[in-house]
Amino acid sequence: MSAPRSFQVIVIGGGHAGVEAAWAAANLLGSPGSVALVTLDPAKIGVMSCNPAIGGLAKGQIVREVDALGGLMGLATDATGIQFKVLNTSKGAAVRGPRAQCDKHAYAEWVQRAFAGRPEITVVGGSVERLVVDSGRIAGVVVATPTGPVPLGASAVVLTTGTFMRGLMHTGESKTPGGRFGESPAVGISGALKDLGFELGRLKTGTPPRLSKATIDWDALPDAPGDDEPVPFSDLTERRARVFPAMPQVMCKQTRTTPEAHEAIRANLHRAPMYSGQIESVGPRYCPSIEDKVVRFADRETHGVFLEPESLRPGHDDWIYCNGISTSLPLDVQERIVRSMPGCEKAAILRAGYAVEYDMVRPHQIAATGETKLVDGLFLAGQINGTSGYEEAAAQGVVAGLNAGLRAMGRPSVTIARHQAYIGVLMDDLCTKTPTEPYRMFTSRAEHRLSLRADNSGDRLTPLAIKIGLLDRTELGQRRKAFFERRRRESETLNALIDRTRIDNVPLADLVRRPEFGPGRLDEALGRPPVSPETLFTVHTERFYGAYIERQAAEVRRHADLERRRLPPEIDYHTLPSLRAEAKDALARFRPETLGQAGRLEGITPADLTLLAVLVKKHGS
Ligand SMILES: Cc1cc2nc3c(=O)[nH]c(=O)nc-3n(C[C@H](O)[C@H](O)[C@H](O)COP(=O)(O)OP(=O)(O)OC[C@H]3O[C@@H](n4cnc5c(N)ncnc54)[C@H](O)[C@@H]3O)c2cc1C
Repeated sequence: MSAPRSFQVIVIGGGHAGVEAAWAAANLLGSPGSVALVTLDPAKIGVMSCNPAIGGLAKGQIVREVDALGGLMGLATDATGIQFKVLNTSKGAAVRGPRAQCDKHAYAEWVQRAFAGRPEITVVGGSVERLVVDSGRIAGVVVATPTGPVPLGASAVVLTTGTFMRGLMHTGESKTPGGRFGESPAVGISGALKDLGFELGRLKTGTPPRLSKATIDWDALPDAPGDDEPVPFSDLTERRARVFPAMPQVMCKQTRTTPEAHEAIRANLHRAPMYSGQIESVGPRYCPSIEDKVVRFADRETHGVFLEPESLRPGHDDWIYCNGISTSLPLDVQERIVRSMPGCEKAAILRAGYAVEYDMVRPHQIAATGETKLVDGLFLAGQINGTSGYEEAAAQGVVAGLNAGLRAMGRPSVTIARHQAYIGVLMDDLCTKTPTEPYRMFTSRAEHRLSLRADNSGDRLTPLAIKIGLLDRTELGQRRKAFFERRRRESETLNALIDRTRIDNVPLADLVRRPEFGPGRLDEALGRPPVSPETLFTVHTERFYGAYIERQAAEVRRHADLERRRLPPEIDYHTLPSLRAEAKDALARFRPETLGQAGRLEGITPADLTLLAVLVKKHGS
């Protein structure tokens, strides 16, 4: 083999985790040829494997956070969204979630164009079969290419293999090796990870059939519209006509499953890989297949289904995603399910639904930076860590990519805390819990969700991006910095105005806490101050929920000491006296980095934590 070509960071995988990891590393490193993105098929970079939608509850907040850190997902969604909708607008600001349906082909092309404009990133097509590790440190990878093995060297490697590691697709009794439809699995990498001592697990996920729009009675079905005034994800997307939305907006439709379909499912359960024993791994409980729903909610006669166009591109505009009936039943049963749905009596299936089983690395083996505890400089991100979803993958990609970049520069790593971002909640959950099913983000996972809103993501995270140097190298980064500064000045102006204004002798600061005094009344009371509606909304929300937000902040301050106190990485927990055996086992398995993390492990009680603090002090840390 020839001498390895050297990079500072190598990212393996061109899914949503890999894309954001390579982008973040390039943003940080800035020099041409510093980052390699190795992926099975470069033409599939940025592909949406399943649902052509980004965002939703909690997931929408994550996309805004990725955007605030200089990531791509928000911009790509704004440029290619064909229906935008903010979910939960009737509820409080903390649980609203922006969602957009994208043209899936336009999305991937947009990402690929963005990559083509980055001289820092070199795309390499091929399969990484081996990781090169030298004295416990990553040194590079070996890529299998049609012309033979190619060695690549780097001081940091980010692995984002998604659903491809020993991927096996199931439709009914048929099993095909593959990471997703039409693509081969990655085989060697699982063995390479096992040889290095990693503990692997196996999970499964599924996707619904795609239907031909021309064969659906489209006009007869109830509408599922987007918002009249679409709101972009990214702070950098200009909100003016002909710029946003960039693509024509579409109508989705609603239909439903029927008792007849449920009967067909029950009669064919023995042919469903999940029930016949053909699939043994666990799938997402919160995103169940239609066969799961029929078994678990046996008394329900119907389940809602959304029919969502996947693309407006000629040649692809006939494809409809059938949201709600993910399934791996055989094709003949899928046809019976589909044809019993109102409006779909004559619908043709363009591609059958299927399930995919894949290997993952149990995430207690990574730190909150994404770096593995076994191999220095090796980072994992995305579905490989047992998560599910584009947004969760993107979030981990940013964290792992920026930390890989920092590692390559010899700079200290950065952890995002739970109270700072959903991204922090995600990373912390991954390294303190053992997922028994694919992990997906919910607002209920965040204890500080009143502060982790979509509207203030930039205020929370852009200062961190500036501090690390993520925004220094690009024109986009400069625009983000300028946006952040402008918004900070606007907030200061607005807060000062609120503090010095009285209406009928009542301080405006008191009025703004009343439920009937919304952002519109605040704007009016201040004579329409020269600030953006977005800043006005955020300042109003923070004033309105001020007491609760302060209570959460006090809680964070109370726990700050635990989060700061680091646990020595070399400690042998089994030798510590007095600790319960269950606590020792949990600590030895997860190897938490701080006392705060230790307190969140399953099997650790408050008494264990108090004792641990004393023992660690004695140990000399
Ligand atoms: C059938 C199916 C159904 C799904 N259903 C849902 C769902 O219902 N809800 C949901 O939220 N999410 C779902 N997803 C998951 C969603 O697609 C993923 O969570 C998300 O895309 C994961 O992103 P990722 O970057 O981790 O991996 P992926 O998007 O899978 O990308 C992995 C990348 O790694 C590359 N790669 C893999 N191995 C190698 C190697 N050895 N060498 C070089 N390159 C390699 C691949 O080419 C690919 O580019 C589904 C995925 C599939 C396939």
